[in-house]
This record gives sequence, C-alpha cells and structure tokens, in this order.
Amino acid sequence: MFKIGSHISSAGGFLAMGRTAESIGANVFQFFTRNPRGGAAKAWPPADIDAYAAFASERGIGSPLAHAPYTLNPAAAKENVREFARETMSDDLARLERVPGAMYNFHPGSHVGQGMERGIALVAECLNSAVSRDGAVPVLLETMSGKGSEIGSRFEELREIIDRAETGGRLGVCIDTCHVFDAGYDIAGKLDGVLTEFDRVVGLGRLRAVHLNDTKYPFASHHDRHERLAEGTLGIDVIAAVVNHPALRELPFYLETPNELPGYAREIALLKSLRA
Ligand code: FE
Ligand code: FE
Ligand code: ZN
Repeated sequence: MFKIGSHISSAGGFLAMGRTAESIGANVFQFFTRNPRGGAAKAWPPADIDAYAAFASERGIGSPLAHAPYTLNPAAAKENVREFARETMSDDLARLERVPGAMYNFHPGSHVGQGMERGIALVAECLNSAVSRDGAVPVLLETMSGKGSEIGSRFEELREIIDRAETGGRLGVCIDTCHVFDAGYDIAGKLDGVLTEFDRVVGLGRLRAVHLNDTKYPFASHHDRHERLAEGTLGIDVIAAVVNHPALRELPFYLETPNELPGYAREIALLKSLRA
C-alpha cells in the first residue's frame, strides 16, 4: 500500500485531522504536537482521540506522525532550554500513547558552538530522561541539512545518538529528502548509494518515515528551504525514484512542501500517478 500524506494543521483536533487527510487523498498525515514556535500544549480530549481512532480504522488512515516544536533543542547550552526539551518530549510522548499508530519526530538540535561531541551527548541525555522503556511510540530523529550548528546532518551523528541512548529500541530515523540532499547526500545522482551508506551506518531497519520535499538550493548547500514537487533542484524524477525505491516504498511519506491543502491534494494525486 502507498502510504502518502502531508503536514496538516492540528487546530481542529484529531478527528478533524483524519477528515482533512481523507479530503486531500491522504492515508497518513503529520501534525505539530503544539505551536511549533511556542510551548504550551492544548489538551487532547480523549473523546476526540476515540472518534479519530474509529474514523481512521474505517477509512484506512494511519501512521499519524507527531512533529515536535522547532523551539525544542535538547543540545542547547542553557539548562532551562534543555529542560523545556526534556519536559516537552516527555509530555508529548505520554499524550501520544493514546493515539493509535502514532510516531514522534524531532530535530536532534543545534550544539550552538559547544561542539558536535558535546551536542550529541546532550541529545542522548535528553532521550534518556524523556523516552521511557515502557512506552510504545517510536521516536524518530530527523536527518537535518546541517545549517548553523545543527546535529544530525551526517548519518554517523544519528548513529552515535542512538548508540548512546539507553532506550535505543524505541529510536528510529525519518529521512527528509530536502535535508539529506542539502546535507551532501546525493539522492539525485546516487539514491542507491546513499541508501547503502545509510544501511551501513545506521541500518535500514531504523528507517521509519520519509519527509518528501524538493529543495530551493543546489546540492550540499546546507540551507533547508523546501520547494514544491517538480519546482526545485531535485525534480520530479528523483521524487518518483524515492517513492518507488524497494528500500523505501513501504514507508509512510509525508509532504512538507510550501502548499495549502489544494496544493497538497495535487501533489498527492501526482505521486499516486508516479507510483509504479
Ligand atoms: Fe522537521
Ligand atoms: Fe522535514
Ligand atoms: Zn526542513
């Protein structure tokens, strides 16, 4: 089954997200657990989650991917910022336990001049505090473009975080097509080679999701500016190769292209036509 969807607004709650996903031809979706630039979380009424669960199983919708807020930086220099990261992650994960099939995605963070080694140690420390052994929600590290002092633009960095985390069994990876290309992995010229490299360093078994984006910038530019499908540097042939690749095709794909819902609906329809 082709699992394809996009990022959508969580403002109306879970049932509304399920209905929105269906309205644009999606069978998976991504949403922010809270305001991406703020902190406070709205309550998730259990009745809304139950109504969503019934709707989703009836309509074949699944794999809701919860994205942590952008302000979450487990590798910050300031203890109060790290504390916000731990508390947010732990609270988000506890709430997600109720949501059927949910996964959690976060940006590993930025070391803000403390150095990559220290940054990686701090990310692992956050995971050790916020990710419990008894929880079931998979926690995905997103591959980053490497802008500024971002952690996680090299597969080796993701591997080191996973190795240092005590609850490594719950950890996975989400590949972002814009970010990996920006980071210097040539998925346009050598998709097979990049995936072989990922398998060698991290293991394809850890790969749980794909963010599907084109990029506004050239290869290895470390900019992180998403573009609509077929309008960026990657081009539609590369995107088609990604959604059809044997190592990727069973994973859920989430669009994060600069679009409103009608644009997402068009891209989802286009992707379905490209799926071999
Ligand atoms: Fe992201
Ligand atoms: Fe992404
Ligand atoms: Zn991005």
